[in-house]
Amino acid sequence: MGNITLSFTVQGDSEGYVTFECPYCGSEFKLQAGEVQSDEEPVLELFCPYCGLAKEKSAFWSKDVRDKARALAENYMIEELNKAFGKMARSINRQKSIIKMTYKPLKKVYVKELKNADTAETEFQCTCCNRRVKALYCAGASKIFCPYCGVDL
Ligand SMILES: [Zn+2]
Ligand SMILES: [Zn+2]
Repeated sequence: MGNITLSFTVQGDSEGYVTFECPYCGSEFKLQAGEVQSDEEPVLELFCPYCGLAKEKSAFWSKDVRDKARALAENYMIEELNKAFGKMARSINRQKSIIKMTYKPLKKVYVKELKNADTAETEFQCTCCNRRVKALYCAGASKIFCPYCGVDL
């Protein structure tokens, strides 16, 4: 078994925004699905709009997305196991021996659809790269950083 790539899509809110979560401060923000997954300008690192710290993009996937990826990986394993055991049971039962093998296929785990609800964040556009971010701008936060280039907005 080589490397398996499991891909899935995350549905954005009504404006195409997808939720991300900062691995440092746990705050949520939203980015345009098309901008963050752009093939022409691949985004490898993101900056947290609140604390300004950077890390590889995958570290910012929200808990929902990570849970979904885990569920998909689990189901893949279950499918492979069921296939392998089914085959084994068939070949054992074909031989006219006294051993009979029965197996109950494992049940797959539930994979939920990811849909981002519209929330009360404010939309910001970076003057440097023109890409957009939706962040919660409360009175206490004086600065919002661009998730792509890290400058103040
Ligand atoms: Zn942060
Ligand atoms: Zn920018």
